[in-house]
Amino acid sequence: MKKQVVVIGLGRFGTSVCKELYRLGHEVLAIDTKVDRVDGIRDYSSHAVVANATDESELKSLGVRNFDHAIVAIGDNLQASVLCTLMLKEIGIAKVWVKARDLQHQKILEKVGADKVIQPENEMGIRVAQHMNSEKIIDY
Ligand code: ATP
Repeated sequence: MKKQVVVIGLGRFGTSVCKELYRLGHEVLAIDTKVDRVDGIRDYSSHAVVANATDESELKSLGVRNFDHAIVAIGDNLQASVLCTLMLKEIGIAKVWVKARDLQHQKILEKVGADKVIQPENEMGIRVAQHMNSEKIIDY
């Protein structure tokens, strides 16, 4: 089923999530404060907008409340990430998934209502190690 997803923050992680969701046929609204990042995603999203996602009135005017999923991919700015997550939950987005840079960040995000917290580097490191481990077993 086609989902409506808002992706906030177009670093490597946010950009990759946005492109793949769009390729899979979902409606994706991409948001970043940086014009060049928004320009770069235009051909790989349904809508691409320059906006500050910590500004509640901007989020509301973009019709974010009509989306059922949100991905907050702001890793480095803890304050922006937490504030944005809190506002998206207050606006009523059912599923808010958020990128965290470390465990402390993850705990704060869970307290403010994030439905899923992802630590991409950490999770990918574990998967690579497990992959290598299973190859060793097969080789044996
Ligand atoms: P990655 O590791 O995924 O490449 P990054 O660590 O390089 O990410 P971050 O600093 O985590 O980059 O920010 C990701 C994106 O979020 C940046 O493009 C940044 O402009 C955007 N961003 C930061 N704050 C806001 C905000 N308040 N509203 C919208 N976008 C924001």
